[in-house]
Amino acid sequence: MASTDYYRLLGVPRNANDAELKSSFRKQALKYHPDRNPGNEDAEVKFKELNEAYSVLSDSKKRNIYDQYGEEGLKGAGAGAGAGGFGGFQNVDLGDIFGDIFGGFGFGGGSSGRSRSRKGGDLKHDVEIPLEEAFNGSRASVSFERTELCSLCHGSGAKPKTGLKKCSTCQGSGRVQYAQGFFSFAQTCPDCHGQGEVITSPCSQCRGSGHERKKAIVNIKIPPGINDGTLMRVSRAGDAGTRGGDSGDLYVQVYIKHHSRFERVEDDLLYYINLSVTQAILGANVEIPTIEGSKTTLNIPAGTQYGKMFRISNKGMAILNSKKRGDMLVNVKIDIPTRLNSNQKELFKELSSSIDGDEKVIKKKKSGSIFEKIRGSLIF
Ligand SMILES: [Zn+2]
Ligand SMILES: [Zn+2]
Repeated sequence: MASTDYYRLLGVPRNANDAELKSSFRKQALKYHPDRNPGNEDAEVKFKELNEAYSVLSDSKKRNIYDQYGEEGLKGAGAGAGAGGFGGFQNVDLGDIFGDIFGGFGFGGGSSGRSRSRKGGDLKHDVEIPLEEAFNGSRASVSFERTELCSLCHGSGAKPKTGLKKCSTCQGSGRVQYAQGFFSFAQTCPDCHGQGEVITSPCSQCRGSGHERKKAIVNIKIPPGINDGTLMRVSRAGDAGTRGGDSGDLYVQVYIKHHSRFERVEDDLLYYINLSVTQAILGANVEIPTIEGSKTTLNIPAGTQYGKMFRISNKGMAILNSKKRGDMLVNVKIDIPTRLNSNQKELFKELSSSIDGDEKVIKKKKSGSIFEKIRGSLIF
């Protein structure tokens, strides 16, 4: 094998620490692992080179020799056993490195896990909550159907007690050895899929699948101030796994229903108030409903215009992960009366003359009383 720069091969700087080495090796080795590149010789060569580089650099003695004398130094003194550049490979604890990724199979010296377990599927459901619940926080129930372990065989798929026998291919170990180039790999037994046992008579309830469909109800906690469209995760509330694998996760997307009175504007609540003409002109104290179900008073000053926005601090939405609240924004609309009786019409005419500058009318009437008359005559 040609002389290679182990550091460059692993993609780490020369002063990389053990954790950096391990992480970089893991990443690369996973990419070139023979199980993931069946029949790809280039990947196999690369995988072997990576193993060699890591076996040297992860061993402080060998790393010292390599740093001082290069690859040649390792072939001479102190490199330990082995043929050529692969001397140190057996010392690498690959099970430790690959851990759950390969579930412990594929490497002779790895972990003791033997089954090819598979995680269950993730599920997603939507819930809709009223704005009040988004304000106060609440619990929402999500009911849905999911795959659960069969209640009779508890997921084994075999008839309880009598339905399983030891796998003859792997003698119950769940793994078989095979040789590839310099290496001997342990592979999951193809007959029992790593279980070490095979089903002789399947479970009558699930017909061997180990699963059954069931209705489930999951309660989720909605935090005060939650935003519309928030995706929440309930871990392991999804479909059951296979052969002891974890359940998938449940994702719940929380939507907030349209509210008849309030419009949420981030942390604030927008409320539209309809003032009468006289309230807008003369001013008034008006009651404004709040999201918590009480009322607050807003002073409308005389001469308030259409579209005016008032801010009532601390009466808005709850703010997520905070004890603070947003504000209430009160937007003014003005109701223009559409049906007036003759008396009211006269009063408005009088008012119009007064405001629009008919001097005679102003002189005849005492100004200031017109508004009061109009207010007294209109019912809103
Ligand atoms: Zn069953
Ligand atoms: Zn087997």
